[in-house]
Amino acid sequence: MSSLPHDDLGDAWRAARVRPAGVHLDHAACSRQSTEVLDAVARHARHEAELGGYVAEQAAEGLLQQGRSVLAGLVGMAAADLAFTESASASVRTLVSRWRLAPGARVAVLPGEYWHNAATFTDAGLTPVVLPADALGRADLAGVERALRDDPPAFVHVTLVASHRGVVQPGRELAALCRAADVPLVLDVAQALGHVDCDLGADAAYGTSRKWLAGPRGVGFLVLRPALSGQLTPLVGPELHDDDRTGVDHARWFESHDAHVAGRVGLVVAVGEHLAAGPHRVRERLAALGRATRERLDGRGGWQVAEPLDEPTAITTLRPPDGVDVREVVARLRTEHGLLTTAANRERAPRELAGPVLRVSPHLDSTVEQLDLLATALAA
Ligand SMILES: *Cc1c(COP(=O)(O)O)cnc(C)c1O
Repeated sequence: MSSLPHDDLGDAWRAARVRPAGVHLDHAACSRQSTEVLDAVARHARHEAELGGYVAEQAAEGLLQQGRSVLAGLVGMAAADLAFTESASASVRTLVSRWRLAPGARVAVLPGEYWHNAATFTDAGLTPVVLPADALGRADLAGVERALRDDPPAFVHVTLVASHRGVVQPGRELAALCRAADVPLVLDVAQALGHVDCDLGADAAYGTSRKWLAGPRGVGFLVLRPALSGQLTPLVGPELHDDDRTGVDHARWFESHDAHVAGRVGLVVAVGEHLAAGPHRVRERLAALGRATRERLDGRGGWQVAEPLDEPTAITTLRPPDGVDVREVVARLRTEHGLLTTAANRERAPRELAGPVLRVSPHLDSTVEQLDLLATALAA
């Protein structure tokens, strides 16, 4: 069995955090924040109490702008293109509601589209059309090219890594096809940023702080190219944010006026830690953890891994043996073995999942010994 690369990353990640109460294999749900991040959030909240919320925010603006630059850079865009939001869900709701596409306008998605995104499109009066994909749910590029040529949708929306399956979509190839067809591409990178490469040439990307970036909950981001934000209608014009008439970056029109600024500060610190660790090295270790998970778990106790062994993600999902209730198993793993995992129900991706799956998502400090523990518990 393969061993893990970059043990120094695992050691540093572990040393930077409080000791976990159990074995945390659930980072696709919510990662563990570092002590640095927790302290930065608390410090900003204390500044608000000392200086006043808006003075403290002003004082943090340099840091926040640095964070905008780094976060946007991870998806190939610039600081002016990034709006902080409250979550990935808030980002897609803002994008779609401000886009104000004509009722019935079509949005092309893959079969495994995340339930909340699909619900957001339907709620906005858009008509989802499903792009062709293979048995794993991965985009069929020739089929997508044909669909874009024959009957182009208003935009294509792709979830780069799904929450119910650790498969990476061919984002760069999809971006090229969309560009050739002059159709905007929007990427949901909630499970992808800090995990796989997201600098792929999309027109917009959005995600969340708490998953692979290990920032605070309740913070997200929406990154848009100026050409796309030019098609959106801000709820309030830039004048609200521009008392001194110095000009406001285009994406800021879509940022909430008041917010959990301390959380945004925490996200910026977390992104700094990600950068310092080296995104390439992080990806290599996470991919190796995914492989190690699949090697150990596939077939154990009759559980079947959905992903190819070498898929470069740290998300593994398992179909249960006949008659086994995934939620009960997740509860038993936690109470009897201290192992934290998720039961992903069918509703998450109703077109793709036949039933609930067990999701296992280690992060940098996870060990093969922990994965062995899980394998043994599953076999029991
Ligand atoms: C978690 C998740 C979301 C939603 O993120 P929030 O920050 O909870 O709104 C969206 N898309 C995918 C693929 C996710 O995994």
